[in-house]
Amino acid sequence: MSVYLDYAATSPLDPRVLAAMLPYLEQQFGNPSSLHGAGRQARAAIDVAREQVLSLFKAAAAQVIFTASGTEANNLALKGLVREGDHLVVSAIEHPAILETCLALERHGARVTRVLPDSSGLVEPEALAAACTSATRLVSVMAANNVVGTLQPLAALAQVAHEYGSLFHTDAVQACGKIPIDMEAHEIDLLSLSAHKFYGPKGVGALLVRKGIDLAPLVHGGGQEGGYRAGTENVAGIVGLGQAAALAASEQSTDAARLVGLRDTLIDHVLRGIPGAYLLGHRFKRLPGHACFGFAGQEGGAMRVLLDLDRLGFAISSGSACSSRHMGEPSYVLMAMGYDAIRARGSLRISLGRFTKTEDIAALLDALPAVVGQLTPLLRRPTPSLQGVTS
Ligand code: PLP
Repeated sequence: MSVYLDYAATSPLDPRVLAAMLPYLEQQFGNPSSLHGAGRQARAAIDVAREQVLSLFKAAAAQVIFTASGTEANNLALKGLVREGDHLVVSAIEHPAILETCLALERHGARVTRVLPDSSGLVEPEALAAACTSATRLVSVMAANNVVGTLQPLAALAQVAHEYGSLFHTDAVQACGKIPIDMEAHEIDLLSLSAHKFYGPKGVGALLVRKGIDLAPLVHGGGQEGGYRAGTENVAGIVGLGQAAALAASEQSTDAARLVGLRDTLIDHVLRGIPGAYLLGHRFKRLPGHACFGFAGQEGGAMRVLLDLDRLGFAISSGSACSSRHMGEPSYVLMAMGYDAIRARGSLRISLGRFTKTEDIAALLDALPAVVGQLTPLLRRPTPSLQGVTS
């Protein structure tokens, strides 16, 4: 048996995305910069993908710059805008794609302020306001956190940024295709996304930029992507990203409703059934398919729990490390939320997605108690019931 519950790390390719991509890996291999028919066909496919992405984010007033990852989109946003002497404000719980870029910008003379969230991972608009000044060029706060799943109040944060004359960027890599984001209504100036987090291929992302914003390119060359990102386009990948966006536009609300049911059943059973279990992140303002737990007194055993679950066929992540390279280190996200180093070292991230079934969650609930050192599987206990598990 194999149960994949690590959708926050990456998602499987939706078969409909693969089907849309295949022709561009086989017969329709033209270079979009060529003037002949094959080239024009590839260019037309990219144009369709651009529209599909814009439409998912209701971003008629934005342009799409396709990149090779969410990481590159974040780099382009920050390095493309922030100059020596500029002030940049970010949250302290951003992904390393933002935080490491901030360190690089500081080495080039930018000033960076990192805002702490509250204990649920929420960045309060008041805390952001206290960090901004009239010299702030850019504010960047992620739409959803990759460790604890907490969603940020984007419209309120963007409003604060604008009050100080700053632009507002959001890293929407975890949120894209999972929750509705309306770039115009939320007044977001720049938005980063990545295809592999919402059933598209790896190695393709995009930065959406409100038209009129002056951005310096990172990659110079043949002038592709409006001069903002040179290099022959990854046509099949871009087509896959477009198709993933089109599917999300029509399916994200039904996906989300089903996943919230499964997620809440998982959370209720774990919190009520495993003594000492606690939820990390906001109870309600969280990604539909995302749960992150600690087990009081057993934090040191989180990695053993993860490996035992792996042996039983469950793929989940440590919430403490954003990659296996940092295994065993306390999570800077949990530390910024106010947890001590012991608690910040031992958490489990369980993330669900489009292909997660009720039986997957039931099987995990059956296995988890024994693995974390409890004896009775949760589903065999009298309370709570499996109500809320839909399909
Ligand atoms: N930003 C967030 C919030 C992420 O979770 C990730 C990936 O985990 C990234 C950026 C990086 O995206 P990519 O893997 O496309 O480089």
